[in-house]
This record gives sequence, C-alpha cells and structure tokens, in this order.
Amino acid sequence: MTDCLFCDIVAGDVPATKVLETDRALAFRDIAPHAPVHVVVIPKQHFVDTHDIAHADPELLGEVLRAATDVAVQEGLTGGYRILTNTGPDSGQTVFHVHVHVLGGKNLGALAG
Ligand code: AMP
Ligand code: ZN
Repeated sequence: MTDCLFCDIVAGDVPATKVLETDRALAFRDIAPHAPVHVVVIPKQHFVDTHDIAHADPELLGEVLRAATDVAVQEGLTGGYRILTNTGPDSGQTVFHVHVHVLGGKNLGALAG
C-alpha cells in the first residue's frame, strides 16, 4: 500500500471495477457515481493534478484523454458525455492522483457551479 488511493488501485491493492486499460492508463467505475455512467480515468504513473502532468508529460495527458473518449464509446454514450477534471482543493479535488471523470448516460444539463 502507498499513501495514494489510485496508485493502490493500479497496484491491485485496492479493488476497482476496471472498464479499460492501456499500457499507461487505467479506467474504472467511480465508487460514488454522479450519473448512470461515471468512470474515472487515470495515468498509471503518479502525478498530483492536471498542472503536474501537463508540464511533466503532456503526451501521457493526451493518452489519458484518448482513453476517456474510448471509454465513452465502449459505454455507448452516443448522445454525448462530459469529461471533467478537478485541480486543487477549491475545485473539489479529493484524490491527488490526476484523473478525469467521464460522465454520461443521461442529459447532464448545463455545467454550473
Ligand atoms: P475528485 O473529487 O475529482 O478528486 O474525484 C475523486 C473521485 O474518486 C470521486 O468521484 C470518488 O467518488 C472516487 N473514488 C474515491 N474512492 C474510490 C474508489 N475506491 N474506487 C473508485 N472511485 C473512487
Ligand atoms: Zn498515485
């Protein structure tokens, strides 16, 4: 076990319902879904947040985003979907291993906050 929940999921030390895996990215169902489809997509390598990965390895960030779109296709989200990422405490980020949320399966309404 590490001090990072998502690193523990990558290592197989914490169970998760995986939906897609590539060499460098992993997607699994969110434990507290906000939509009928709610999948979390992460790089297997640890980065704290989007700023961190965007500057350290932008190609990997692109791979995570591509995996997120592939999840949407795999989940049959033909009507559209939302990809979002929280960065830092003010955004509501709670797990400090960068991740994108893929939300869909219903009309998500306007993005408000
Ligand atoms: P964020 O609030 O953007 O940092 O998103 C973290 C997400 O991780 C939340 O939507 C949580 O519901 C989700 N989450 C927390 N623990 C787990 C877990 N063990 N398996 C799957 N998703 C989790
Ligand atoms: Zn981590």
